[in-house]
Amino acid sequence: MTLPALHRRAAELGRALARGSAGTGFVPTMGALHGGHLSLVARALRAHERVVVSVFVNPTQFGPREDFGAYPRALAGDRRLLGSLGAGRRLLLYAPEASDVYPAGFATAVAVGGAAGIRLEGEFRPGHLAGVATVVARLFALVRPRAAYFGLKDYQQYLVVRRLARDLFPGLRVVGCPTVREDDGLAMSSRNRYLDPVARMRAVALNRSLLAAAEAARGGERSVRRLRRAALKVLSRVPGLTVQYFDIADARTLEPLRILDRPARALTACVLKGTRLIDNLALEPGKGDARRA
Ligand code: AMP
Repeated sequence: MTLPALHRRAAELGRALARGSAGTGFVPTMGALHGGHLSLVARALRAHERVVVSVFVNPTQFGPREDFGAYPRALAGDRRLLGSLGAGRRLLLYAPEASDVYPAGFATAVAVGGAAGIRLEGEFRPGHLAGVATVVARLFALVRPRAAYFGLKDYQQYLVVRRLARDLFPGLRVVGCPTVREDDGLAMSSRNRYLDPVARMRAVALNRSLLAAAEAARGGERSVRRLRRAALKVLSRVPGLTVQYFDIADARTLEPLRILDRPARALTACVLKGTRLIDNLALEPGKGDARRA
């Protein structure tokens, strides 16, 4: 197995990328890689001669009382997992120190506006989306990819990054990739490692609540209040689970909706025994007869 070349400094990565032709695909991550991350890398490898995966636990996207210190770090295992994809020298791993991403004197912050930049995660994790936008902008500037691959698992983040790229990095394509789930439907996440076996079993409720809303929508329910109620009923049955939000919003802008009259997204954040989990699903307005069709 060929391990991906490991680069700790952007300057050195830049020299490696300058060899050969352009066409770099980029997959930014915080490491502790799982099947969701690997699906992004595999997708990028299908489209590009070279793919850079970054592993960087970005301090500026964590709040002071959040899990920056506890966040799993597993670089050697991540490198082996990437090596197992069999991409050889086409895959490069960029795992910088914080000082490479934020050198002394770094003083820029990027904030994305609009509902997608402000609501939901923006309300419950103040500073988080700005931290994401800033690090992604910086990484785009260092890696200079032709396309970057993001998971729809973090749907709001995907919308924020798409906006950021359109506004600041014209020509860079942001590709949204489907959420990879465990067999029972739980969205894969590095934070699932925090769950004890009981919490792990209960965590499937997020996906079930989203499916309840999607099913009601397919059945013709158009009232967002009633769709939410169907989803919250599922979540309310789970001991030890606190709902931070369950929202149904315009899929393009994340503006809140009252009636399901356009493509929409259901998004939820819940805390289960101290672990915060998020998930989301597309909601398509149905015609009322889908269950019989
Ligand atoms: P993270 O390491 O959690 O910051 O995630 C890095 C990238 O992987 C982001 O674009 C995430 O949306 C994506 N990702 C994380 N989990 C999944 C998943 N279960 N399915 C698809 N993409 C994912």
